[in-house]
Amino acid sequence: MKEEKYDIKSRNPAELTEFVTGLGEKSFRAKQIFDWLHAKQVSDFEEMKNLPKNLIQTLSRTCAPLSLKQETVQISEQDGTRKYLFMLPDGNRIESVLMRYRHGNAVCISSQAGCRMGCRFCASTQEGLARGLTPSEMLDQVYQIGKETGERVSSVVVMGIGEPLDNFDSFVRFTELLTHEDGLHLSQRNLTVSTCGLVPEIRKLAEYRFSLTLAVSLHAAVQEKRRQLIPVADRYPLPELMEACQYYFEQTGRRVTFEYSLIAGFNDAEADADALAGLLRGLRGGMRCHVNLIPVNPVRGRAFRQPHRAVVAAFKNKLEKNGINVTIRREMGRDIDGACGQLRRRYAQA
Ligand code: SF4
Repeated sequence: MKEEKYDIKSRNPAELTEFVTGLGEKSFRAKQIFDWLHAKQVSDFEEMKNLPKNLIQTLSRTCAPLSLKQETVQISEQDGTRKYLFMLPDGNRIESVLMRYRHGNAVCISSQAGCRMGCRFCASTQEGLARGLTPSEMLDQVYQIGKETGERVSSVVVMGIGEPLDNFDSFVRFTELLTHEDGLHLSQRNLTVSTCGLVPEIRKLAEYRFSLTLAVSLHAAVQEKRRQLIPVADRYPLPELMEACQYYFEQTGRRVTFEYSLIAGFNDAEADADALAGLLRGLRGGMRCHVNLIPVNPVRGRAFRQPHRAVVAAFKNKLEKNGINVTIRREMGRDIDGACGQLRRRYAQA
C-alpha cells in the first residue's frame, strides 16, 4: 500500500511544532518552516536554506508536494485577466483567475475539484464532485499567482469551482493560514467566500467570527424560481437562508453580499426586482447588505441568455429606489473562457 504523505503546508504552527519535535528537531524549526511555506512561499524543500540538510531530506521524502502543476494560462487582451488551469497531484484539474482592478489585484480560487451542488447555470457542476481541495491546494493558487505576476494580491475570493462550505474544515484552515500574521497576512476583510446557501454551514461559519465577507448566491427572491436554478434551495428554503444570513451579520457585524445572476426572461422582470427589494427590506435589526447583479455568462450546453443592458440598468434602478446598495459586476476576461469551470471542461473533453 502507498504511504500517505504528510500535508505540511496545510498545518498550523502548533501542528508543525508537534511534527518537527516528533522528528527529534528543536521546536524553533517549525517557525522557520512556516516562514518558508507561507511568507516566502517556496515551492521546494531544497530552498529552505536555514534548515539542516538531513531535515530537508526527511521533509522531501515524507511530505506531500508543495506546489500545484500549472498547465496553462489564458490572458485576456481586453483587460489583462489571467485564467489559470492547475493540475492536482491526483490528476484532477481546477481553475483560478487573476482579475486586475483599479484598487488592486484579486485572485479567485477553486475550493473543490468539481461540485455536487448542481446549480443550473454553472459549468463546474456538470461532471459532479471529484473531491474537496486541501487547505494547501487552495493556498497554492494564491501563492503561485502572486509569485508569477510579481504583484501583490490585495484580495481573494473563493468563488471558483466548488462550494467552499461543502469543504468546510479545509476552508476554515485555509482562512487561518492565508490571514496568519507570520504568513501572507492577508486581511480577513479582503477575503470573500461565496456559497449557494448551505444554511447549517453559514451558521457554523458565523461562530468563528471571522471578518471575511459572505457572498450568498441568491439569483431569485421567490422560492419557486430559486429552486429551479439552485437545487439545494429545496433543502434550505429562502426564509431559512435569510435567517442564517441575519445570524451571520449579528455574529460578525459584516455586511452580507447577495449575488444575483440576471437571466433574460427568467428573473429580470420588474416583478423580480420588486420581490428582491421586498425580501431584503424584511431583514431585521439594520442588517447591512449589498446586491451584486451579474449578467449571466453563457455556458455551453445551457440555454441562458444575458438580458439587454437597459433591462439590467432598470433592475438596478428599481433596487436603488428601494434604498438597496447595488452594483453591477463588471465582466472580466470575456474573451477567454468566461464562466467558471469552462476552461477545465474544455481540457477534460480534449
Ligand atoms: S455555482 Fe458554485 S455551488 Fe453552484 S454548482 Fe457551480 S460551483 Fe457549485
